Amino acid sequence: MSEKSSYSFFEGIERSFDKAAKFTRFSKGVLEQIKSCNSTLQVKFPVQIGDDVEVIEAYRIQHSHHKLPCKGGIRFSLDVNQDEVMALSALMSYKCAIVDVPFGGAKGGIKIDPSKYSVADLERITRRYTFELCKKNFIGPGVDVPAPDYGTSGREMSWIVDTYTSMNPNDVNAAGCVTGKPVSQGGVRGRVEATGLGVFFGIREACSVEEDMVKLGLTKGILGKKIIVQGLGNVGYHAAKYCQDAGAIIVGLIEYNGAIYKESGIDIDKAQLYRKQHGSLLGFPEATSFEDGTLALELPCDILIPAALESVIHAGNAARIQAKIIGEAANGPLTPDADEILAKKGVLVIPDMYLNAGGVTVSYFEWLKNLSHVRYGRLEKRFMEKRYDSLLDTVGLLSQRDISDKERLRLSKGPEEIDLVHSGLEDTMMNAYQEIRNVFVSTPGVEDLRTAAFICAINKIGICYEERGIFP
Ligand code: GLU
Repeated sequence: MSEKSSYSFFEGIERSFDKAAKFTRFSKGVLEQIKSCNSTLQVKFPVQIGDDVEVIEAYRIQHSHHKLPCKGGIRFSLDVNQDEVMALSALMSYKCAIVDVPFGGAKGGIKIDPSKYSVADLERITRRYTFELCKKNFIGPGVDVPAPDYGTSGREMSWIVDTYTSMNPNDVNAAGCVTGKPVSQGGVRGRVEATGLGVFFGIREACSVEEDMVKLGLTKGILGKKIIVQGLGNVGYHAAKYCQDAGAIIVGLIEYNGAIYKESGIDIDKAQLYRKQHGSLLGFPEATSFEDGTLALELPCDILIPAALESVIHAGNAARIQAKIIGEAANGPLTPDADEILAKKGVLVIPDMYLNAGGVTVSYFEWLKNLSHVRYGRLEKRFMEKRYDSLLDTVGLLSQRDISDKERLRLSKGPEEIDLVHSGLEDTMMNAYQEIRNVFVSTPGVEDLRTAAFICAINKIGICYEERGIFP
């Protein structure tokens, strides 16, 4: 339980689940099965750090086995504990269901502050953790497939795939034991920016519904919307960047060690560069600086995007939030109490389990690439180019007009891996939003998108159990 909420993170999710379950037709037992965490691994292993041995605490929790493999990131953070990993693994189950990614949910965590260790130490910790997962059969392309999360990146995924491969030398699909790998290690182009880009597609889709925007007193479309982003990690940075490129105005940026605000807009790349050079955003030219970054969550904006850790908006600050839309890029940034306060204020909350599902969606594409052993676009790119070229020849003949080389180059370009990944992600995020919104507008008594998203997820998981029965 956190001091910011009367519920633990996992209890908060159970509460949202129960609220939505009332609108589904499943029995108490089936609902209980969907809600429970199926397998929990807690390990404590020794790692040589400097002259001494350190005992490291770590978890892997598989929330649901209704589809295999299980899927979900691994985070490195001092806040890691069993309740947090359980909550995050549950969110993964619902997230995968919402975006039709055929995986069960899981999550892993190592209780460390990665900034306190050398790269060599982190490598030893990650490899030893992977060894523990292998020993307990908690990793494998058909079993459980980790990915990056808070405090981890492609670098850690490379160590994981290498350790798994050396322990399973005959597994031809070994590359599919983890996603979010660098492209050289079997990764897919577009995975790095996937979560942030998915956040952008989701917010853009929400803003495209005129009726909903009018209710909020906003205009349709993302163009000109004033946005505050909390957390400039991979997710927050990319979400801000794509929103800015689409014409939104980034008025505020918040980091754990200070925030900046400027009504006329902050260039996200300049701010990111400044933060890297100065160690914080404080003092960024022409913007107002806030040493206590959390205060900046309450500044005027149309859209607030919390993209860091859980429970940043709680009973203590929710009433003061001025944003009309909250896009939950992080997992669990709103406590259940905050959710209720914001619902009463009429704020449109786009829930985490939908909005940040871009990462796992592209992880699915990466896993498919690993199992098929071929890069996307490899087979069809040139074929499509030839097709488009001959089509353009015909168009030129029929219209009796020359098609310039520049036009030809643009119109006949065949799809590269990155184009296919981005378009698959865009399609997924657009469809899922409309699916959730349809449940929201068509189910009497459903008051928010989170409940609607839970209903979608429970229905999809419930039907799996219902149609195949329970073994034995
Ligand atoms: N860690 C990310 C998440 O929470 C990605 C998970 C994955 O790609 O498996 O959604």
